[in-house]
Amino acid sequence: MTIQTDVLIIGGGFAGVTVAQELEKQGIKTTLVDRKDYFEVTFATLRNITAPDKTKNRARKKYQDFLSGRFIQSDVVEMSSTAAVLIDGTEIKFTQGIIASGTRYSSMPVAKSTIAMDISARNDELLGFHEKLKSANKVLVIGGGVVGVELAGEIAYALPNIQVTLAHNSHVLLNGFEEKTQRKSLEQLNSLGVDVIFNSQYLKIDDSYIDKNTGIASDADLVFEATGVLPNNEYLKTNLSQILNDYGYVRVNERLEVIGENSLYALGDIADVGEAKLGYLAQEQGKYVAKSIIKKLKGKSNKAYKRNPLIALIPVGQKDGVVQLPFAVTTLRFLVGLKQKDLFVNKVYKAF
Ligand SMILES: Cc1cc2nc3c(=O)[nH]c(=O)nc-3n(C[C@H](O)[C@H](O)[C@H](O)COP(=O)(O)OP(=O)(O)OC[C@H]3O[C@@H](n4cnc5c(N)ncnc54)[C@H](O)[C@@H]3O)c2cc1C
Repeated sequence: MTIQTDVLIIGGGFAGVTVAQELEKQGIKTTLVDRKDYFEVTFATLRNITAPDKTKNRARKKYQDFLSGRFIQSDVVEMSSTAAVLIDGTEIKFTQGIIASGTRYSSMPVAKSTIAMDISARNDELLGFHEKLKSANKVLVIGGGVVGVELAGEIAYALPNIQVTLAHNSHVLLNGFEEKTQRKSLEQLNSLGVDVIFNSQYLKIDDSYIDKNTGIASDADLVFEATGVLPNNEYLKTNLSQILNDYGYVRVNERLEVIGENSLYALGDIADVGEAKLGYLAQEQGKYVAKSIIKKLKGKSNKAYKRNPLIALIPVGQKDGVVQLPFAVTTLRFLVGLKQKDLFVNKVYKAF
């Protein structure tokens, strides 16, 4: 079977959904393909496993319940400059192709699931992790990036009987962030009782996690590997391998057009935009790409994409956190509370 569409969007994350909604608002027909049947506000998934009564399952919505354009639940297995092929052999020909397939964790299904493709399976998957946590005594979180820091804080706050260790392979948490952000988040984790180990290198050997530096095996009964982000680029490798950089991300120019391709844009986590890989930035990029397509249809061109300064609001537990603004770092409860209320779930759906 062959389908024809004006705009094909591969991936229904923050980036892809934003492009679809913005274009549909302007009367441009889109087709969005995602292997899952639901969108998930990732910001809320960690609290989903530590305190499911707080978040309920509000972070997830089925595409069919809010997406304006055509939605196809399937896996894209191949793509060229003019068409994509789905796992059942369906070919989708497009005028504009949008690559927004994001990233996944190599072994951290709590963050982004690689197996739960329908919403109820995902709800059950996260509830399953909550049950495991409830019966755990010691938890090891590997990776002191944003996800690892947040997860360690969430567990320590909601389940204070658990002894939480956060192991990081550097001498500071949150590499790339301001020194004050790193210091304040460490202080907050420590005050929740989290034991932070620096310069560790845990390796999984059979069923054990062993710190390569000390040779000591972790005695944790539950381990989360908040490391190893991989781009979802497999479908690009047959015909479009030249658009990938050495790390597997899609090369784009200052207009978020795929370098060397006239009909393709790439944005969000999969694209080498030169901005932090964050959902709110993927939404900004989505708005920009939609505007570019609308201008292109009118024979005009959009100005270059303006990269945004990094703003990060990192919750540590359910009350505290650190806010990094372009010119200041603060732990003011009033500002932290903006996110703590519902982890921005409503804000995201409102934007859609
Ligand atoms: C636990 C956690 C907390 C976070 N907290 C924050 C936060 O507080 N603030 C913030 O701004 N960012 C946060 N982020 C980062 C944010 O989630 C990402 O930057 C964002 O998800 C990127 O959006 P995206 O649309 O580029 O890609 P993704 O969200 O990865 O979406 C890509 C979509 O493409 C689909 N897909 C992939 N390959 C295929 C294929 N071949 N065929 C069909 N479909 C495919 C996937 O199923 C997925 O739905 C967090 C991330 C995690 C994991």
